[in-house]
Amino acid sequence: MKEILQDLNFNEIEELMLSLGEKKFRAKQIFEGINKGRRISEMSGLPASLKASLIERFEDCPIEIIKTLTGADGTEKYLFRLADGNVIEGVLMKYKYGNTQCVSTQVGCRMGCKFCASTLGGRVRDLTSGEILSQVLVVNALHSEGNRRGVTNIVLMGSGEPLDNYDNVVKFLRCVTAENCINISARNISLSTCGLVERMYDLADEGIPVNLTVSLHNTTDEERARTMPIANKYKIKDILAACANYFDKTGRRYIFEYSLIEGENCDKRHADELIALLKGRPCHVNLIRLNEVKERHLKALGEKQAYRFLGLLEKGGLSATLRRQIGSDIGGACGQLRAGYLDGDGE
Ligand code: SAH
Repeated sequence: MKEILQDLNFNEIEELMLSLGEKKFRAKQIFEGINKGRRISEMSGLPASLKASLIERFEDCPIEIIKTLTGADGTEKYLFRLADGNVIEGVLMKYKYGNTQCVSTQVGCRMGCKFCASTLGGRVRDLTSGEILSQVLVVNALHSEGNRRGVTNIVLMGSGEPLDNYDNVVKFLRCVTAENCINISARNISLSTCGLVERMYDLADEGIPVNLTVSLHNTTDEERARTMPIANKYKIKDILAACANYFDKTGRRYIFEYSLIEGENCDKRHADELIALLKGRPCHVNLIRLNEVKERHLKALGEKQAYRFLGLLEKGGLSATLRRQIGSDIGGACGQLRAGYLDGDGE
């Protein structure tokens, strides 16, 4: 694979232009083209010779949408092809306040959570910062109108464990929040992790106060390890300490994801234990009914019981919501579109 131009920030593109003997202002043109989600070959105003030398060294098109599914509620699901032929997926959810894009940070994932389709084939490779950024810029270009951004919020909840690809994800966050790029505020970005504790401390010190979201999904380390192998390495009490540190450093409330899986994590006892763990902390609990994955045998909790579980948490003094299921008619669950594509029923 060639290099990825989108991995470079503005200063790096300026340096590149100087090293190629080009005028500095070319950097501005190229950066504008990148921000518009254009391929190098589609960038306007550049001399043909410069385009040719760029394409020789860099991928003309690091990412391309090869399939779009649109749900009844307007949710769009994309299958992207990377320059090396790997595929990843992403989602755009439309709300009154704007559009939230769910982006991937790795091809596959090595965390091994039993309920998740992204991890079925393990981790194939990390995405570069430019590949993560390009997902946003390409979708933004599709949906922006005049000065209105097509993507206003980002969740790092596609395939991959963002903190397992730390340097590229942090570079992406710096780029996407930069004033001269798409400039999405850190407050409008959520990073979801299964709880890689050391990296949670590192993130708190980066000066990019994104919303930290932690996939908890159970209340004791032993039970959590049944569906999340990472629980053998990191204990819930250490995750909670890392969250408290994140709040101290950034002033941002943190969020726990809790997917309700029948018979696994949603008895009254779990609600009581969750309340004991989290009460008084500056946090919110996002409940979601499991999206059933056909390769796995775990079952979603019924809707009525899910609301009952929510009621127990609220009665216990927690701030909690049950996430409404969106895009469920288009295979909303994590990693399912790619898994289907790899199985051969995707096209
Ligand atoms: N690696 C990150 C991002 C994963 S995806 C993390 O672990 O947080 C975002 C969220 O979706 C996580 O909370 C993840 O546990 C959850 N998730 C994955 N597969 C799911 C499924 N089939 N049903 C419901 N939630 C799921």
